[in-house]
Amino acid sequence: MEKIQMTTPLVEMDGDEMTRVLWQQIKEELLLPFIDLKTEYYDLGLPYREQTGDQVTIDSAEATKKYGVAVKCATITPNAQRVEEYKLSQMWKSPNGTIRAILDGTVFRAPIMVKGISPVVKTWKRPITIARHAYGDVYKSTEYRVPGPGKAELVFTDERGTEQFRQTVYDFECGGVLQGQYNKDSSICSFARSCFQYAIDTKQDLWFATKDTISKKYDHTFKDLFQEIFDAEYKEKFDALGIEYFYTLIDDAVARVVRSQGGFIWACKNYDGDVMSDMVSTAFGSLAMMTSVLVSPDGKYEYEAAHGTVTRHYYKYLKGEETSTNPVATLFAWTGALRKRGELDGIPALADFADRLEAATIATIESGTMTKDLVGLWEGETPAHGVNSLDFLKAIRARLEA
Ligand code: NAP
Ligand code: MG
Repeated sequence: MEKIQMTTPLVEMDGDEMTRVLWQQIKEELLLPFIDLKTEYYDLGLPYREQTGDQVTIDSAEATKKYGVAVKCATITPNAQRVEEYKLSQMWKSPNGTIRAILDGTVFRAPIMVKGISPVVKTWKRPITIARHAYGDVYKSTEYRVPGPGKAELVFTDERGTEQFRQTVYDFECGGVLQGQYNKDSSICSFARSCFQYAIDTKQDLWFATKDTISKKYDHTFKDLFQEIFDAEYKEKFDALGIEYFYTLIDDAVARVVRSQGGFIWACKNYDGDVMSDMVSTAFGSLAMMTSVLVSPDGKYEYEAAHGTVTRHYYKYLKGEETSTNPVATLFAWTGALRKRGELDGIPALADFADRLEAATIATIESGTMTKDLVGLWEGETPAHGVNSLDFLKAIRARLEA
């Protein structure tokens, strides 16, 4: 069989531990036999990040800006224990944080659904994708424990040193707590554009919600900027695709999400996204079946699994024990990236291959063959058959070739 040819390379970001092992297996079993795979390879595994002083992470993000599409393996974010384990010279920053800052992107998380593993919420028939604005608000706030009676004020001084506003927040008659938060128009606008762009890409409605009735300046600005950008830049494209932008209050959104059938993107402010993404992903079943894509406002894409490097399984693997780590989210990172590359380069065979590979993966699980993490969630009619990662990939390959 003739291999599918690529024209532009994918930016390939290799990673750590168990997912690094899966990465290789996925390429060997399911990609290299079918595609003349062109990638620009960056090793984001912790040893090479240490060796390059983390320059490799920056270079990989710059390459994503240049080529437009990247696929990333999970990577270790070092903590004190990792500094010891890997003899690091520094506690290097989270690669995802570095890449997100360079691309100015928003992360979209979506579950992979299969028949036989049902979401906790019975009405959910299609995935709900959550977009979290990962900048500012309470995550960049300044806060005090107020020791006792006194006046708290909110002051803004412009760059020339002129005091523009001074407002009493509260006249404390006793101790309490105090917090100052901010966000930037530029960041809110980038977030909005990434969301509109991704809604168009995936042909899904976009929902956005804040508490603008209570927060008449802060949250209302989010609402207004989204609406202005939508009207000026995206409305026509949405109309042409028959998708809609829908704004509502956050509490109304929560109620509607639970009653919905899914199949839309839910854009959330930073805190809402932090909380709701964990709720939604848990309700859909498994972290191992959750994909993630970073989308920049100018349409650059980095695909990955939402889970980490699955350290516990890796230590077993190193001891020579058999592991049954679920490769689906990592595999779907590859298919997402290949499909996007195919679309951008006008190679329908590449996008079609991504579709077929995803379909073969889902069909393999639906036929009862799956990794062990899914066996406990299985409610299908055929009995579940738990296999190791490599046998699972081989079963997908057999189906793909059939
Ligand atoms: P994790 O790697 O996501 O794994 C947590 C647990 O979830 C695993 O022990 C396993 O449960 C289950 N799990 C996750 N993915 C699975 C899969 N594909 N198949 C089967 N089970 C899966 O999170 P972590 O252990 O907290 O973090 C490990 C490392 O990953 C850390 O160094 C962290 O910095 C890094 N991390 C990276 C990213 C990223 O690159 N995007 C994201 C998060 C974490 P059982 O052990 O019960 O089987
Ligand atoms: Mg969280």
